[in-house]
This record gives sequence, structure tokens and C-alpha cells, in this order.
Amino acid sequence: MDPTGPWRTLHTAHFRIHFRPAYRDVALLEAREAERSYALLAGELHPPRGVVDLTLGDDVDASNGFTTVFPTSRITIFATPPAGDHGLLFYDSWLRLVTTHELTHVFHLDRTKGIWSALQQVFGRAPGLFPNEYQPSWAIEGLATYYESRFTNGGRVRSSFHTQVLAADRAAGASRSPWDALLFTRWADGLVPYAYGSRFLQSLAGVAGDSVVPRFVEATSGQLIPFRVGRQVARVAPGRALATEWIRGTRPAPGSDAGQPPARGGRWPGSRPGVRSRPSGSAARARRPAATRASRRRGCSTACSAASPCRGCRRMDAASPTCATQGTARASSGCGMPPRFASLPGTA
Ligand SMILES: [Zn+2]
Repeated sequence: MDPTGPWRTLHTAHFRIHFRPAYRDVALLEAREAERSYALLAGELHPPRGVVDLTLGDDVDASNGFTTVFPTSRITIFATPPAGDHGLLFYDSWLRLVTTHELTHVFHLDRTKGIWSALQQVFGRAPGLFPNEYQPSWAIEGLATYYESRFTNGGRVRSSFHTQVLAADRAAGASRSPWDALLFTRWADGLVPYAYGSRFLQSLAGVAGDSVVPRFVEATSGQLIPFRVGRQVARVAPGRALATEWIRGTRPAPGSDAGQPPARGGRWPGSRPGVRSRPSGSAARARRPAATRASRRRGCSTACSAASPCRGCRRMDAASPTCATQGTARASSGCGMPPRFASLPGTA
């Protein structure tokens, strides 16, 4: 954001809102939205320390927001409403949605307990001493997306686009697990932690009660090994496990045509060799033939044949020369797949 030129600051109970003079009306609206979001979030999560600096900008034609909690809590918001981002198109007020989302990050990431609080007493608000920063991106972005949907009349938990992202992954037999629902691993790249994380938390709150989400944040804020998630899910929702609740929460909505079976035996969808999807939605188990000697000799790490392609080849677009699993040219991977798999029985 361009810092040159005149700027003004609006002081509210919990914010300093920085804006250019031409945007005074927007800043006044943002002040109301920020305090509204703060009051709603403070009813759920522990309030952050200190005043939050919120900078309102309009330098680029992009809709986004950024948050950091060190050295102090700071939010930057681009005032441009979303026009081309499919996931963000479901909103009532752009400022309300983005402010609630970014402020959730402040509430979440600023929260520090136990040994982390003691370390901050000595070293200050140093990077690396905020335990929730170590949480997986689906937990961080999922929480913000969950609350943006809960405290506005829009939000991406309700958006049809995220439903389709999950359904597309499931149709390809490539649904994410908590270990790979992360940023920029493969399509849908940056959308993944938002889509999976928020659906998981929404589902968990549905079966274990709304208070499970704030209790989860409190639990992760003081744990010695800060990137743990599953242990704290089991602690705040007795009798429930991350593995089973994840599958429940990230299934496509009823009525979608993803046509994928639920995972069996508590495993992640698509991760079990031999479980194949069919258009009818029923599951059929087929014993996967062992990798051919040729494929092993050429370094193909996945057992794969024309009758039973590996996940990468099954997802591979017919026109693409690259195996999605191995990231190598198909001709050199040893997979030896025919150009089209859509006609093979049992492939989605
Ligand atoms: Zn975010």
C-alpha cells in the first residue's frame, strides 16, 4: 500500500483506522463494522491485547485483507469489493465480511497461554512466540472463514463454490486429509484450507455444540507442541476424533452429484488402495494389481496399470502430458497409461 500523501486516523474503542481523506465516509462505515465484529467475536473468543491498527486502502483492483500480530496487531483491508473471485461472491457487505475474517485472525493468533505467555513476558511479541501461528493453514483460515460465515449473512461456508471444490476433489478420489489440506499443494491451491477448514469446524460445531470452536482455540493457545490439532479436538469434543469428524465435515453436501462414496474404516477418502468410485455413488473394492516390473524399474512409485490407474493418472486430464501424482512427464514415468481414462469402467 502506498504510504505517501496525506493520511488520517480514526480512533475507536478497539481500533485505530488509518485512511486517506478522500475515504472518510468509508472509514466511518469501517469503524462501525470493526466494532461490530469485535463485539461479536469477543462473545466467542478471548479478546486480543492492545489496540488493533486497521489500514484501509484502495490502491489496487483486488479484494483482500492481511493480518499480522507482531509486533502489534495490524490489519490491512483493500476496500474494493470482490467481482471475479468465485469463492468470495457470496457476501452481504464486503467490509463486514473481510473485517470479520481478518479480525478473527487477530483474536486467534494473538491468543497466547502457558509457556508461550511466559516467553513473551521475557522476549516480547517476537515472531515465533505465537503458538497458534504454528497451526496448519486449514485451522487458521478455516476458523476465520467459519466466523465470517457465522457473523455475516454471507460467507464461504455457505458459498456454492467451496462446495464444488470439495465435490471436485472427491469426484477425483483426491479428497484432502488434515495433512494435505494446506496452501498451494495442488489444485485448488490457495482455496483449499479455507474450504476444508471451515466445513470441518462448521460440522464439528454442529455435532459437538458451538462452544467447541472457542474451546479448541483456547486448547491450542497453550499447548507445548503448538502444531498439534487432533489431540485438542479429542480433548474439547470428548468421544470424537479428528479423523472421523474430518470426513463427516468435508463430505459434499447432500444432493451434490460428486458421486463419491464415504470413506470406509476411518481412512481418508481416496487414500485407500483398491477403493474406486463409480458414477452411481456406490463403492466397489477392487484388488489393485501390483506395479509392473517395468514401472518399478523406471522409478514409478505408484502401482499403476491401464485397468487400475494410480490416483495421479486417474486425475490427469487427457490432454495433459503430466502425471498429477509424480509431477513427471507421463512418457517417462513408466505409468504407460492410455490417453483417455474416462471410458474405463469404474473411473470418475
Ligand atoms: Zn484469512
